Amino acid sequence: MRYVSTRGGGAPVAFRAALMAGQAEDGGLLMPERLPDFSGHLESWRGLSYPDLAFEILRRFTDDVPASDLRAIVDRSYAPARNGAGFDTVEIAPVVPMGDLYLLELFHGPTLAFKDLALQLLGHLFDYELARSGETLNVLGATSGDTGSAAIAALRGKANVRVFILFPEGRTSRLQELQMTTVADGNVHCIAVEGTFDDCQRIMKTLFNNPAFKARWRLGAINSVNCVRLLAQVVYYFHAWLRLAPRGAGARVSFSVPTGNFGDVFAGFLAAEMGLPVERLILATNENDILDRFFRTGVYRRGEVRRTLSPSMDIQVASNFERYLWWRLGRDGSAVRSFMAAFEAAGEAGLGGGPVGAGWPGRFVSGSADRAATVAAIERWFRKTGRVLDPHTAVGVTVAEELRGDAPTVCLATAHPGKFPAAAPAGAQVSHPRLAGLDDLPERKVVVPNDAGRVARHIEAVCS
Ligand SMILES: *Cc1c(COP(=O)(O)O)cnc(C)c1O
Repeated sequence: MRYVSTRGGGAPVAFRAALMAGQAEDGGLLMPERLPDFSGHLESWRGLSYPDLAFEILRRFTDDVPASDLRAIVDRSYAPARNGAGFDTVEIAPVVPMGDLYLLELFHGPTLAFKDLALQLLGHLFDYELARSGETLNVLGATSGDTGSAAIAALRGKANVRVFILFPEGRTSRLQELQMTTVADGNVHCIAVEGTFDDCQRIMKTLFNNPAFKARWRLGAINSVNCVRLLAQVVYYFHAWLRLAPRGAGARVSFSVPTGNFGDVFAGFLAAEMGLPVERLILATNENDILDRFFRTGVYRRGEVRRTLSPSMDIQVASNFERYLWWRLGRDGSAVRSFMAAFEAAGEAGLGGGPVGAGWPGRFVSGSADRAATVAAIERWFRKTGRVLDPHTAVGVTVAEELRGDAPTVCLATAHPGKFPAAAPAGAQVSHPRLAGLDDLPERKVVVPNDAGRVARHIEAVCS
């Protein structure tokens, strides 16, 4: 499988190069050149464990990694918990009924959010590739809260890797911050930026788009700009369908996905493009609703970032959106470049000028849930079922209740409620043993102004 840039530049690269590069050389994002069709495999995949299924799917994308090596990497990535690492259930991503909906629990990994599912794999892949090549890597990531801790959990203590995480000072939840800053391993560096998550993401892109800096300091990406994350996330859509769908080809399932950077729901879109029978992809945002507005109107227009109960979705400019655009625009890199240039210049851009094309937006339906609706949903489901939803999951559930249609509907439960105790209903128990005691540990972080140059100098100082 070769990987190409959404902006049409540069030569296609193989999997291992795509893994290490993170972003394409021309500033675009890498995408598999074509997608396999798995529809003929669904029936035979029904009994597979999570790692077995992950191996079956991923091996189609990783033909420059020997199958036995991939097998070992996947088994290490999706292993049951040992010494506080790993997943706390062998099912890895259980599908459980909640009223007339289903929850896909993606929070059983080391940092209790769905990002572990992809980052555990990415961490083991980096480890493998660096051991093979003898090189070192400085991983740079920006986080609105959960990516950072999941990346740190995946890379802490690993040889040949440093990890630098940018997060918006004061805008993650307290527990999210502690999950990053209390990790004692010397290869972990937390950088609090005096700005928003979009600022962190912009700084990160500035550094990645500087070829000299990127090469000199051997930067690698763990954000969802790294296409390997998307491939890892495709797996749990297949897993959920296989656990749920009645026998027989074509039985459709809908998915509701609380969305920020458009990585998770885009993985669902890719799964559908690979032959998974998906009825609706319900895209749910909080008040930061640029994507909801886009899917309702065809116009992508930047707004102000607002703080909400679901900080991991407080994003206006969603980096994976470019991948969807590329797909929609017939994989035409120059059309993507014009769209992005128009968006950079004017703060808004539209698809196609006039009414968007036939069949648009396809399987997507979208909606948003504000704070009041999210709080109400958390209360309602707690009273009805005794179950506490974290505020991100609650956004997805709220919008699913409105837009679900007739097919069985799976709501992605993206975080454990214990990570966001302030949003829990009165009287609910939401603590988790992995979070207990973080407050007592020493914290390590540096606070830097919202400026790419200052971040660059900090990274240089650490690496020199
Ligand atoms: C990151 C995150 C999201 C948003 O996922 P995207 O892939 O950025 O759309 C939703 N919920 C939680 C808990 C997250 O950590």
